[in-house]
Amino acid sequence: MTAHRVVVVGGGNAGLSVAGRLARYGVDDIVVIEPREHHRYQPIFSHVAGGTARASQAERRQADVIPRGVQWIQAAVTEIDPETDTVRLDSGDAITYEHLIVCPGIQNDFHSIPGLEEAIRTGSASSHYEFELVATASRRLRDLRSGTVVFTQPPGPASCAGAAQKPMYLACDYWRATGVLPDIRVVFVVPTPTMFGMPAIDEELERKVEEYGIEVRHEARLVEVDATSVLIGSVSGDRTERIAYDYLHVVPPQSAPDFLKGSPLAAADDPGGFVEVDPRTLRHRRYANVWSLGDAAATTNSKSGGALRKQTKVLALNLVATLKGREPDERYDGYSVCPFTVSRRTMVFAEFDDEYRPKPTVPFWPGLARERRSTWLIDRYVLPWVYWHLILQGRA
Ligand SMILES: Cc1cc2nc3c(=O)[nH]c(=O)nc-3n(C[C@H](O)[C@H](O)[C@H](O)COP(=O)(O)OP(=O)(O)OC[C@H]3O[C@@H](n4cnc5c(N)ncnc54)[C@H](O)[C@@H]3O)c2cc1C
Repeated sequence: MTAHRVVVVGGGNAGLSVAGRLARYGVDDIVVIEPREHHRYQPIFSHVAGGTARASQAERRQADVIPRGVQWIQAAVTEIDPETDTVRLDSGDAITYEHLIVCPGIQNDFHSIPGLEEAIRTGSASSHYEFELVATASRRLRDLRSGTVVFTQPPGPASCAGAAQKPMYLACDYWRATGVLPDIRVVFVVPTPTMFGMPAIDEELERKVEEYGIEVRHEARLVEVDATSVLIGSVSGDRTERIAYDYLHVVPPQSAPDFLKGSPLAAADDPGGFVEVDPRTLRHRRYANVWSLGDAAATTNSKSGGALRKQTKVLALNLVATLKGREPDERYDGYSVCPFTVSRRTMVFAEFDDEYRPKPTVPFWPGLARERRSTWLIDRYVLPWVYWHLILQGRA
């Protein structure tokens, strides 16, 4: 049994940036527990699937991106006991903490759709939500010349839900450029009544949907898959439709990692199993020395890396205040982002709060919501650089 001042569960976007920030603020003895040898920048998965980036650009060695002043333990957490301030690891070791930050991300539940795992195994379906599947997804979209392709976005909590649409527009633009778009029927299954939920963004996305001839099934979800067809159901459950497909590009339903579900950290009434924090202070509602942020936290915002830019600062300042015996008085405002690559050159960039009200970085300027070349370049080239060099070090 070893003891540390701050233990961080998960060395993804949230874990490394909050650990880096705490180290910068002078906190010592910070440990990140992360099983993976390689760190992944997930936003670029959409570009890989859509053919505008290579898979190798999504990964770096974890050892190379751990922030200065932070220790990495390569292991997976199997259990958290907040009554005894203890985490247990798959190595058999146990670690105690003064403060715990829980951020192991979100889990892809491919198994929750009957037939989906088999369709993925045989290559008739794939996804850009799992690094191991992105290369197949990219190849299938590139090689399609005719037939029906179905894209899906799941209901319920999801990591950057709108990223479901990114490879779809990238692929349509590619098919249009290669002259095969008229021979491809594109169907998009989305749980919401509009493409996104903000009028300015919906207007732009609907224009692109019409331009590419995409058939949209609103307020719908994927119910079941077999080798040649998918069953689509309305979210309310009163209608179904069977569609024959040649390729299924799926974003799976998502929930908290299994070891969190049913643990004392999740709210008893949350079927997703996310960590029950105050969505403003990011402190656990029942355990004062437990904190959570990112995709694993039961916050009210749309889950995204953009949201983390604000969350890491709030959490780190609140934790430092607590260590100094003060009340945590920083508040996260629910800010989130969703960048839509609507072609292989242009982007529609949504910035909004937890009630889908516009929250532009540049106040009173709705310009980022318009289809633009500049935001595409930022998403594809500037943000990855900022991520690897500044965000993961807790500097942005
Ligand atoms: C395909 C895709 C596209 C996206 N596009 C965008 C975008 O364009 N813009 C945007 O802002 N956001 C985007 N996002 C969302 C963004 O990537 C996530 O919101 C962000 O990565 C969440 O950070 P996190 O640290 O909570 O989770 P992650 O970054 O997923 O990190 C979780 C870490 O926890 C580790 N872990 C898991 N289980 C355990 C365990 N038991 N013990 C210890 N460690 C564990 C994992 O190995 C992982 O390293 C996208 C996400 C996906 C999947």
